[in-house]
Amino acid sequence: MAEVRIDRKPRVGAGQFVWGLLVVVAVVSLFVPDSGQAQQPVLNLYSARHYQTDEALYANFTKQTGIRINRLELGDEPLLQRLRSEGANSPADVVLLVDAARLWRAQVDGLFQPIDSKILADRIPAQLRANDGSWYGFSTRARVIVYDKANVRPQEVDTYEKLADPINNGRVCTRSGSHPYMLSLLGAMVERSGEAAAEAWARGMVANMARPPRGGDTDQIRAVASGECGVALTNSYYWVRLLRSDDPKDQQVVQRVGFLWPNQATSGTHVNISGGGVARHSPNRAAAIRFLEYLATPQAQAYFAEGNNEWPVVKGAETHNAALASLGKYKAESVPVSSIGKGQIAAQRILDRAGYR
Ligand code: FE
Repeated sequence: MAEVRIDRKPRVGAGQFVWGLLVVVAVVSLFVPDSGQAQQPVLNLYSARHYQTDEALYANFTKQTGIRINRLELGDEPLLQRLRSEGANSPADVVLLVDAARLWRAQVDGLFQPIDSKILADRIPAQLRANDGSWYGFSTRARVIVYDKANVRPQEVDTYEKLADPINNGRVCTRSGSHPYMLSLLGAMVERSGEAAAEAWARGMVANMARPPRGGDTDQIRAVASGECGVALTNSYYWVRLLRSDDPKDQQVVQRVGFLWPNQATSGTHVNISGGGVARHSPNRAAAIRFLEYLATPQAQAYFAEGNNEWPVVKGAETHNAALASLGKYKAESVPVSSIGKGQIAAQRILDRAGYR
């Protein structure tokens, strides 16, 4: 739309009339969308996902529905900050985040509006969504253990609990204890075993550290490969990313590092999600719900999960990711993802007391 100029004062009446008419036309056209793009419904998507394959995911939605997607991609924390500062003026319709810790935070901060969708209730397993319809998990990731194959025997490190055992003194590496991935793991532990057991675990982990927590999950895997750490925790997709890498340095890492599913004989491996919901002040609520329902179709599920080497959550959705499939099946913990959030505050308190930075 061209700028409307009303400050100019033509000297002759005819000129005045023409300018007046122009202003009227311009103002009227503000309210009457012209043909083409302006008429196309729009969905404003705030996403903490930044994957190549998501392009196809969004293009396919537009093709099916005629709804154009405007994307704002930010890191999880900046994205939540943005939503908070925009408040009721936020144009966001859908918010996508990773990890139950952040989804829970957004829910508690009132950044989602609960929705009622039979499609989502039918397709997304109950333990992978908020019980009030605030958010839904669309893919899963597991928190797994990697170890130095040359110096550590797998049976010494095959549970989360064993990492805190004196047998692993001086071997353990993780990212910061207050990162959402660690908060969720500890939150699940609080749910399962109670606060006292979770705190004993956190203290044992701190006592066993090979170095103070630093870096991301991939840095922990690399430090295991270099021999600096004997054992580390990582989200599954970082491991799969290295498996799929053509870089000879990554392939060397993969050769030296062992991978295992934690707690297979006991409580099962900790599972988390990537997911999203309808933004609290969504101007296009119907389109937002339609988009979330689209993400729960088997076809969209394959794209969504593939984007970050994760697993689809909807029955019948298949992954064509050979590296991911090569990990095989595993026993997952039974703690519902929706209840992990509740353990967050206790988890942070425990980490502070244990000095797990
Ligand atoms: Fe991550």
